Amino acid sequence: MIEKIFTSALFQTTSTLLVSDQTILLVDPNWLPHEIIMIQELTKHYLQGRQLYLLFTHSDYDHIIGANAFPEAIVIATEAFTKHPNKEKVLEEIYFFDESNYIQRDYPISYPLVDVIVSKDGQQLTIGDMTLVFYLAPGHNADGMFTIVEEAKTWIAGDYLSDIEFPFIDHSSIDYLDTLQKVDKILEWHDIHQLIPGHGTPAKSIKEIQKRKLENQSYILELKSAARTTNNFNMEALWERYQFRRGMEAFHNKNVAKIAREMGVRTQ
Ligand SMILES: [Zn+2]
Repeated sequence: MIEKIFTSALFQTTSTLLVSDQTILLVDPNWLPHEIIMIQELTKHYLQGRQLYLLFTHSDYDHIIGANAFPEAIVIATEAFTKHPNKEKVLEEIYFFDESNYIQRDYPISYPLVDVIVSKDGQQLTIGDMTLVFYLAPGHNADGMFTIVEEAKTWIAGDYLSDIEFPFIDHSSIDYLDTLQKVDKILEWHDIHQLIPGHGTPAKSIKEIQKRKLENQSYILELKSAARTTNNFNMEALWERYQFRRGMEAFHNKNVAKIAREMGVRTQ
């Protein structure tokens, strides 16, 4: 299996390309026009009669921005992805990003149409000589999924278990913790050699995956405890652990507000 992970200059967003004898699996091709062109060229280089599959880990705009650069692909995403309640808003974020940065693309922007729908944990899909197993992963947003590529011993995680980002809880902290609960089971059920996050660097060992899981969990639990009690959130430790403080501070504050809203709703 040939593997190529492209890391965008923006937010270290990853695009993963896996090539087997019969199949190409491309995940979340993203951000800048020249980066997309590079991915298109390599995909074309490997095509040679192989079937191209395009998988979206979730519907956040940075992950679907390159969708239409691969019109020949068979598209895989979750059922929740297809039922996104506000597709226009996602597209608006792409338009806003492109127009704010004077970016022109040579392909149109639209919300991806999905050919193969993932709707439950453990769902398996054979694409040529590649076997994919999926687990639903809501929490960061509502429509994420984990994908295990069995033959590559690879776990494609979307926006979870990153080494450079703490959890961004846009959807639900309860779902987020439930999703993290799946980590140990997945490690037990599958032979995993690496985990590729949506942003940052792959985890190359079980130990590293478990370390990231614990970091993600304790971040959310500490947020909840700080909201419930007079305990202060340890900001110093947070910015020692995560280096892009000026970029990420707003996301931490969004998480704090999100947790407060969730708790408010529950105590009413
Ligand atoms: Zn992302």
